Amino acid sequence: MDTRRCILIGAPVQAGTRRLGCDMGPSAYRAAGLGPVLAALGLTVEDRGNLAPVAGGGPVHPNPAIHGLPEVAAWTIALARAADEAGAEGVPIFLGGDHSLSAGTVSGMALRAAREGRPLFVLWLDAHPDLHTLDTTTSGNLHGVPMAYATGAPGFAGYLPPLGAPVDPHHVCMIGLRSVDPAERAALGTAGIRVHDMRAIDENGIGVLLADFLDRVRRADGLLHVSLDVDFLDPGIAPGVGTTVPGGATFREAHLAMEMLHDSGLVRSLDLVELNPFLDERGRTALLMTDLAASLMGRRVLDRPTRSF
Ligand code: MG
Ligand code: MG
Repeated sequence: MDTRRCILIGAPVQAGTRRLGCDMGPSAYRAAGLGPVLAALGLTVEDRGNLAPVAGGGPVHPNPAIHGLPEVAAWTIALARAADEAGAEGVPIFLGGDHSLSAGTVSGMALRAAREGRPLFVLWLDAHPDLHTLDTTTSGNLHGVPMAYATGAPGFAGYLPPLGAPVDPHHVCMIGLRSVDPAERAALGTAGIRVHDMRAIDENGIGVLLADFLDRVRRADGLLHVSLDVDFLDPGIAPGVGTTVPGGATFREAHLAMEMLHDSGLVRSLDLVELNPFLDERGRTALLMTDLAASLMGRRVLDRPTRSF
């Protein structure tokens, strides 16, 4: 595979949330110039257009709050396949779409890693752990379950596709948490996932936390998947998301993380999720997410011309 080849895959997934608008995300990233921005870094960029869900179906879950389950199952099949295939060729960048899409991208990349005889590590940049199971979710919004699914938590069998290679929870690091439901808190306490909430960022600096995780990935010869939820960022700089939580990562914290990820050379795939262009302000969130993706792929903030936002 070629780490200088970016494969853009649109994933207009909307089924994981009741707040409409995420399905416009891929278009917003293209309008923000993501492809040309990456190409300007000297990378090969291939835009494969938008993926379509593989027709699914499946049983009705007894939890009456759940909605969109057959659609999420259908997307999970399509996205896992796309991740596994594109991950063998270059660096897939998934343009979401709500965060339920990561059920597919993370499980697909885990399979890709297993084929290469290496462990998959996941960096989860999000205000939320998205660690509900189908039984514990009270909102029924399936963008809150992908990490539970991908790490092999119970209760998904028969509803979402069987996992080819569950991710070891000890290989997951979550940074930026500040909204955790009680059931997720209990799961975090036992799962073995490394968790750094906003206070940990305040006290230590995001660089120290991330460097420690990247060392672990390197020592284990792991593949690293990064899942970047818009709400990782402070809503003051990234308003285009349906789940704003105050007190998120700053512009510099986010760029530092991306620059460190680039320097590590470990990143094999990236999700850009939860952008809701309907809630955005003249594209500023789409532009910021595009800039962050560019930082992750090698651009330095100091190298770029001044842009207003
Ligand atoms: Mg999320
Ligand atoms: Mg979130």
